[in-house]
Amino acid sequence: MSVKNVLHNSLPLVEIVGSNPRMLHVSPSILWFLNGYMSKFHIRRIGNSVILHSHLPPLNSAAYSRFVNEHLLDRTTGPSHAQVGITNACPQRCEYCYNRNRQGHAMDTETILKTIRQLKDMGMVWLGLTGGEPLLNKDIVEIVESASGDCAVKLFTTGCTLTLEKASQLQKAGLFSVSVSLDHWREEVHDRGRRYDGAFREALKAIDMFRTAGGIQVSVSAVLSREMIENDQVEEYLDFIEGLGVHEAWLSEVKPSIEALWSENLVITEEQRRKLVRLQNRHNAGSGMTVNYLGHFEGKECFGCNAGNKMVYIDAFGDVSPCVFTPLNLGNVQTDSLPAVFAEMREHFPTEDVCFINKNYRLLQKHMAGKKTLGKADTLMMLDEVQFGGLSRFNALHYGSRTPQVAPARATSTGE
Ligand code: SF4
Repeated sequence: MSVKNVLHNSLPLVEIVGSNPRMLHVSPSILWFLNGYMSKFHIRRIGNSVILHSHLPPLNSAAYSRFVNEHLLDRTTGPSHAQVGITNACPQRCEYCYNRNRQGHAMDTETILKTIRQLKDMGMVWLGLTGGEPLLNKDIVEIVESASGDCAVKLFTTGCTLTLEKASQLQKAGLFSVSVSLDHWREEVHDRGRRYDGAFREALKAIDMFRTAGGIQVSVSAVLSREMIENDQVEEYLDFIEGLGVHEAWLSEVKPSIEALWSENLVITEEQRRKLVRLQNRHNAGSGMTVNYLGHFEGKECFGCNAGNKMVYIDAFGDVSPCVFTPLNLGNVQTDSLPAVFAEMREHFPTEDVCFINKNYRLLQKHMAGKKTLGKADTLMMLDEVQFGGLSRFNALHYGSRTPQVAPARATSTGE
């Protein structure tokens, strides 16, 4: 932890504890861990929000208080984080789109609103709205409004179709953060990867509009290819993003969630993950934009992979999956009880210290055998073969240590 960051962060920390007095009841080991984690980032004030980065609610918000109360102290078994697809429509056709093979009967707005209410009741404090292109849902402002207040709402968008008026409406509805996708600093590379001429320019226009609307944390999200990491192009990419005047670079890497990406040459290695963590930390030691690499948050030294446990994904058709990158469906909110589906899912996903899909894509490949996604029965068969490893540092502190285990046997999970 750098002294510079401790000093820089100390003033907001007084405010954070002031708005979350129950924080003082959190165990000293967890507080120490969180302090160390936070020291990797600058705490910034955007509008009225005190923000570490956009994967956590603002630290002075009602959503963060709920995180402290419900998850750190009361140990609720519900999800803290969820992503909901609010439309599957999208003008772009990204090479690596994890939604490409999902299909069904789209949720209507009433179902989306009910799902969000249920997720909040279960413990959700951070909601990512995704798609398809979520801006194509005509009710997006109402959806944001329904979730915000005591839940941090983040939008993931290509920027297509945004207007300044819509950006202002979203800000007033309580949107806390937006990530506009930008995969490369070269226009032709971005457009080619998205198979959409003009994608790059629309993204830049959208970033400007969100910045002009004000009061929203504006980030750029990038899905880094292994090639970019191996060729040391990430620094150059970050310099470009920083020049756009955004608050954060939200980095993740290509995940093997679809057939085209089931290759050892495309999946990131542990050494490459560490390289990106070092790059993030180096960058954040300066005073520029925040770099937030998800592989750090989800790494063994931090919070680990919480797919299906503290994280859940409901796609635009209502299918419930452990996370956006896992094409495993354990139920559907249009026909099943979401709390029941999630409770069963959680039994099979005890969390571990590495990315579930990076580790198990070969098993996924074996069980997919021509299918587009795995339904519940196939998912449970696959899970019979999954060997879960140890816990991340945070989860070991939170839950106590655990020996590596396999998922519960299928007969048990189905109550047979
Ligand atoms: S499977 Fe990978 S991408 Fe999904 S939540 Fe776990 S770490 Fe994140």
